[in-house]
Amino acid sequence: MFNVLYPDLVVDSIYDINLETLQQNNIKALIIDIDNTLVAWNIKKADERSMGWIEHMKSHGIKVCLVSNNSKDRVVKFNQDLRLYVVHRAKKPRRAPFLKALRHLGTLPEETAMIGDQIFTDVLGGNRLKMFTILVKPISKKEFPLIRIKRVFEKMVMSKYYKRKR
Ligand SMILES: [Mg+2]
Repeated sequence: MFNVLYPDLVVDSIYDINLETLQQNNIKALIIDIDNTLVAWNIKKADERSMGWIEHMKSHGIKVCLVSNNSKDRVVKFNQDLRLYVVHRAKKPRRAPFLKALRHLGTLPEETAMIGDQIFTDVLGGNRLKMFTILVKPISKKEFPLIRIKRVFEKMVMSKYYKRKR
Protein backbone atom coordinates (compact mmCIF):
# COMPACT_ATOMS: atom_id res chain seq x y z
CA MET A 1 0.00 0.00 0.00
CA PHE A 2 2.90 2.33 0.79
CA ASN A 3 5.07 1.00 -2.03
CA VAL A 4 5.04 4.25 -3.97
CA LEU A 5 6.45 5.95 -0.87
CA TYR A 6 9.28 3.49 -0.35
CA PRO A 7 12.77 4.51 -1.44
CA ASP A 8 14.91 2.00 -3.33
CA LEU A 9 17.82 2.87 -1.09
CA VAL A 10 18.25 4.63 2.26
CA VAL A 11 21.54 6.27 3.22
CA ASP A 12 22.66 8.65 5.96
CA SER A 13 23.96 11.27 3.55
CA ILE A 14 24.87 11.83 -0.10
CA TYR A 15 28.46 11.03 0.83
CA ASP A 16 27.41 7.41 1.35
CA ILE A 17 26.49 7.26 -2.33
CA ASN A 18 29.46 6.30 -4.45
CA LEU A 19 30.12 5.32 -8.05
CA GLU A 20 29.84 1.64 -7.17
CA THR A 21 26.35 2.14 -5.77
CA LEU A 22 25.34 3.85 -8.98
CA GLN A 23 26.97 1.31 -11.27
CA GLN A 24 25.36 -1.59 -9.43
CA ASN A 25 21.97 -0.05 -10.12
CA ASN A 26 22.76 1.04 -13.67
CA ILE A 27 22.39 4.73 -12.78
CA LYS A 28 23.73 7.23 -15.31
CA ALA A 29 22.27 10.46 -13.98
CA LEU A 30 21.25 12.10 -10.72
CA ILE A 31 18.43 14.47 -9.94
CA ILE A 32 19.20 16.01 -6.57
CA ASP A 33 17.15 18.00 -4.09
CA ILE A 34 18.95 20.95 -2.46
CA ASP A 35 17.52 21.78 0.97
CA ASN A 36 18.58 19.36 3.68
CA THR A 37 19.92 16.97 1.03
CA LEU A 38 23.02 18.78 -0.30
CA VAL A 39 23.21 21.44 2.42
CA ALA A 40 21.10 22.56 5.39
CA TRP A 41 18.12 24.60 4.21
CA ASN A 42 19.60 27.84 5.60
CA ILE A 43 22.98 27.55 3.85
CA LYS A 44 22.97 29.91 0.88
CA LYS A 45 25.61 28.36 -1.35
CA ALA A 46 26.96 24.94 -2.15
CA ASP A 47 29.81 24.12 0.21
CA GLU A 48 33.13 22.66 -0.85
CA ARG A 49 32.28 19.15 0.19
CA SER A 50 29.05 18.94 -1.77
CA MET A 51 30.68 20.62 -4.77
CA GLY A 52 33.53 18.15 -4.63
CA TRP A 53 31.13 15.22 -4.51
CA ILE A 54 29.16 16.52 -7.48
CA GLU A 55 32.34 17.20 -9.47
CA HIS A 56 33.57 13.70 -8.69
CA MET A 57 30.33 12.22 -10.07
CA LYS A 58 30.45 14.41 -13.17
CA SER A 59 34.09 13.55 -13.87
CA HIS A 60 33.02 9.91 -14.08
CA GLY A 61 30.33 10.60 -16.64
CA ILE A 62 27.39 10.83 -14.24
CA LYS A 63 25.04 13.61 -15.28
CA VAL A 64 23.71 15.82 -12.49
CA CYS A 65 20.90 18.31 -12.17
CA LEU A 66 19.01 19.94 -9.30
CA VAL A 67 15.26 19.94 -8.73
CA SER A 68 14.06 22.05 -5.81
CA ASN A 69 10.70 23.21 -4.54
CA ASN A 70 12.38 26.36 -3.24
CA SER A 71 12.32 29.79 -4.89
CA LYS A 72 14.24 30.85 -7.99
CA ASP A 73 16.28 33.24 -5.85
CA ARG A 74 17.41 30.50 -3.48
CA VAL A 75 18.14 27.99 -6.21
CA VAL A 76 20.01 30.40 -8.51
CA LYS A 77 22.24 31.61 -5.64
CA PHE A 78 22.96 28.07 -4.54
CA ASN A 79 23.86 27.09 -8.08
CA GLN A 80 26.11 30.08 -8.79
CA ASP A 81 29.36 28.11 -8.63
CA LEU A 82 27.95 24.69 -9.49
CA ARG A 83 26.41 25.81 -12.77
CA LEU A 84 24.12 22.81 -13.03
CA TYR A 85 20.82 22.56 -14.85
CA VAL A 86 18.18 23.45 -12.27
CA VAL A 87 14.42 23.36 -11.88
CA HIS A 88 13.17 25.73 -9.16
CA ARG A 89 9.67 25.99 -7.64
CA ALA A 90 9.39 22.43 -8.88
CA LYS A 91 6.20 21.46 -7.03
CA LYS A 92 7.49 17.95 -6.36
CA PRO A 93 5.94 15.33 -6.22
CA ARG A 94 4.34 16.49 -9.47
CA ARG A 95 5.66 14.78 -12.55
CA ALA A 96 6.39 17.88 -14.65
CA PRO A 97 9.66 18.99 -12.97
CA PHE A 98 11.07 15.47 -13.15
CA LEU A 99 10.12 15.12 -16.81
CA LYS A 100 11.78 18.45 -17.50
CA ALA A 101 14.95 17.31 -15.76
CA LEU A 102 14.93 13.94 -17.55
CA ARG A 103 14.53 15.68 -20.89
CA HIS A 104 17.59 17.77 -20.14
CA LEU A 105 19.63 14.82 -18.87
CA GLY A 106 18.66 12.65 -21.81
CA THR A 107 18.40 9.55 -19.63
CA LEU A 108 15.60 7.09 -19.01
CA PRO A 109 13.81 7.20 -15.64
CA GLU A 110 15.15 3.77 -14.67
CA GLU A 111 18.75 4.89 -15.22
CA THR A 112 18.22 8.08 -13.23
CA ALA A 113 18.32 8.39 -9.45
CA MET A 114 16.28 10.92 -7.50
CA ILE A 115 18.11 11.83 -4.30
CA GLY A 116 16.28 13.72 -1.57
CA ASP A 117 15.43 13.98 2.11
CA GLN A 118 11.63 13.98 1.90
CA ILE A 119 9.36 11.03 1.23
CA PHE A 120 6.29 12.95 0.13
CA THR A 121 8.11 15.09 -2.43
CA ASP A 122 11.39 13.52 -3.50
CA VAL A 123 10.71 9.80 -3.12
CA LEU A 124 7.06 9.88 -4.14
CA GLY A 125 7.84 12.05 -7.18
CA GLY A 126 10.74 9.86 -8.25
CA ASN A 127 8.78 6.65 -7.77
CA ARG A 128 5.84 7.96 -9.78
CA LEU A 129 8.14 8.11 -12.77
CA LYS A 130 9.83 4.79 -11.93
CA MET A 131 13.15 6.39 -11.17
CA PHE A 132 15.60 4.89 -8.68
CA THR A 133 14.91 6.74 -5.43
CA ILE A 134 17.47 7.38 -2.71
CA LEU A 135 16.38 8.81 0.64
CA VAL A 136 18.97 10.68 2.70
CA LYS A 137 18.62 11.79 6.32
CA PRO A 138 17.82 15.51 6.55
CA ILE A 139 21.00 17.47 7.29
CA SER A 140 19.43 19.92 9.74
CA LYS A 141 16.94 19.08 12.45
CA LYS A 142 15.69 22.66 12.56
CA GLU A 143 12.80 22.72 10.13
CA PHE A 144 9.61 24.64 9.47
CA PRO A 145 6.50 23.47 11.36
CA LEU A 146 4.83 22.12 8.22
CA ILE A 147 7.82 19.96 7.40
CA ARG A 148 8.02 18.76 11.01
CA ILE A 149 4.44 17.53 10.68
CA LYS A 150 5.38 15.70 7.48
CA ARG A 151 8.28 14.08 9.32
CA VAL A 152 5.80 12.39 11.67
CA PHE A 153 4.09 10.74 8.71
CA GLU A 154 7.45 9.90 7.15
CA LYS A 155 8.36 8.05 10.35
CA MET A 156 5.20 5.97 10.06
CA VAL A 157 5.99 5.10 6.45
CA MET A 158 9.58 4.18 7.25
CA SER A 159 8.62 1.99 10.18
CA LYS A 160 6.45 -0.04 7.79
CA TYR A 161 9.27 0.00 5.25
CA TYR A 162 11.75 -1.52 7.67
CA LYS A 163 9.26 -4.12 8.88
CA ARG A 164 8.67 -5.18 5.31
CA LYS A 165 12.39 -5.52 4.64
CA ARG A 166 13.01 -7.74 7.65
MG1 LIG B 1 14.77 18.76 0.86
